Amino acid sequence: MASPVPVTPVLVVHGGSGRISPEHHTAAVAGTHAAAVAGQWVLRDAGRCEDAAVAAVRVLEDDPAFNAGRGACMNHDGEFEHDAAIMRSRDLRSGAVAGIRAIRDPVLVARLVMEQTAHCLLVGAGAEALARAHGVGHFGRDEVWTAKAEAAHREVREGRGAADNRADTVGAVALDRDGNLCAAGSTGGILFKLPGRVGDTPLCGSGFYAHPVLGACCTTGVGEAILTHLLAHEALRAAAQHPGGAQRIAQQLCAEISARWSGAAIGLILVRPDGEVAIAHASEHMSWALARGEMTPESGLAYR
Ligand code: ASP
Repeated sequence: MASPVPVTPVLVVHGGSGRISPEHHTAAVAGTHAAAVAGQWVLRDAGRCEDAAVAAVRVLEDDPAFNAGRGACMNHDGEFEHDAAIMRSRDLRSGAVAGIRAIRDPVLVARLVMEQTAHCLLVGAGAEALARAHGVGHFGRDEVWTAKAEAAHREVREGRGAADNRADTVGAVALDRDGNLCAAGSTGGILFKLPGRVGDTPLCGSGFYAHPVLGACCTTGVGEAILTHLLAHEALRAAAQHPGGAQRIAQQLCAEISARWSGAAIGLILVRPDGEVAIAHASEHMSWALARGEMTPESGLAYR
């Protein structure tokens, strides 16, 4: 339901809650900043929250610094399997894809599921067929392969590095002038995952949620820990019970889940219907950006 008075639009993006090696810090912050600028342009033009969230996520999917679209990590077999999702508060419609292979722009297929089907989640070949039928998506290994992903896979394969806590998935939450909210996310999943593994990102209530009274939330980190705790919905519900305390509550939840899950990287962004924001993580780093109204976006790399 649209707000009777114009609301100050808000857009928050994250570039994942994983450890980021020092040489990639600048690129991570620049990437999230660029995504916030792209989303803010949409909102400034009185655009819808879903257009803004998708615009922001598309910037991050195209940026090889992040584990989504181009730059996604490889699974155990050296293949790319992407998960993505979107949800809007106005009618609680959501769309998600899981295990869709080598695609540069999986969030567009998630949006297709939301807008063109009666379903919420399509996997693998079915999601690919829908995308192709609508002429949506840039498919192919060349569209997503990066030297960085190849090197990370080789390191783990050869026993020179661990696959843990390298979560640089992307996500965005947006509140538009009409007071509607949207959450969207995209990921290559976890490095060296088993083929077919699906994490939190495409699971409604775990990796994302958007609701007119609760707000919109997107998560990042070790998907198994996040989906076990239904983090996106849980964070929104808890924040709604503590007006003005969203940041503290979100931080506490991330820390609790991380502690229960052997120090797993956990992070989230959320925006409430009144514009209150939380950017929280229990991990070494999380890159983020925030655009509020007409103000120049803020961005940064949060440390533990
Ligand atoms: N949450 C994602 C997953 O488990 C990974 C990430 O956030 O980077 O698939």
